[in-house]
Amino acid sequence: MVGDGSSIFLWFDNWHPAGCLFDTYGSRVMYDAGPSIGPMLSSIIRDGDWYWTSVRSEALVDIQSRLPKVILGEVDKAVWDSKNGEFSSSETWEKLRVAHSITNWHKIVWFPASIPKHSFVLWLVFHGALITKEKMCSWGFNGNISCLFCHACVESRDHLFFSCGFSRRIWYTIMRDCSIPYPPVEWDDIEDWCGSVMKGDNFYASLRKLYFGAAVYHLWRQRNLLLHGETPLTEERIISKIRWEVKTRMVYKFPSKSPCNHR
Ligand SMILES: [Zn+2]
Repeated sequence: MVGDGSSIFLWFDNWHPAGCLFDTYGSRVMYDAGPSIGPMLSSIIRDGDWYWTSVRSEALVDIQSRLPKVILGEVDKAVWDSKNGEFSSSETWEKLRVAHSITNWHKIVWFPASIPKHSFVLWLVFHGALITKEKMCSWGFNGNISCLFCHACVESRDHLFFSCGFSRRIWYTIMRDCSIPYPPVEWDDIEDWCGSVMKGDNFYASLRKLYFGAAVYHLWRQRNLLLHGETPLTEERIISKIRWEVKTRMVYKFPSKSPCNHR
């Protein structure tokens, strides 16, 4: 709310219908305004009314033409830009966040039975945000970029998780556990594949999603163990950890389906 404008920055505060003038019109508008215009909004207010006589750019004409929409009050006062002028955390979040379209894969990553640490890695993978050696190479990394599992190919997202022989053996075993076909070898096809075999949040869909997330998580973990010189797990140990984590989660989330309740 604008009063005498002495505590409001003309170019940087959000007082005008166009929003922050610096953000909307750029720095050029400050120079076009000339030296007679000060940094505070009070420099264009006289005796309780707007006072901005000469303008010499299209942007300044636009700013000036919308001044009558700003009602001058008694004192400068900060108010929340919300429906009723009151603070609302949800409205504030909506204004601050960058909204993106909803992806088709979000229900593969986030679902009622999901395991947070698995979901987080899977989320990074879907965003292409895991720092594989191929990605490091694109940033100028000159070291060894071969896959730590097979040492035969470049460590890319597609190779690491699906094309590599090591990963394929893991997938073959666990996909057999949940009766779904082997996943595609390229991540771009994974989204459609997930949508076709993991639809919904029922018992079997959750089981498959859990297996999928657990496999991705443990392949990435195995890769990191190798990268940092720690003792890697055997294939059998990885598979047994995947099975154990999926099983304990399913028993917790679907207790009525637990074998203990069917005796
Ligand atoms: Zn490999």
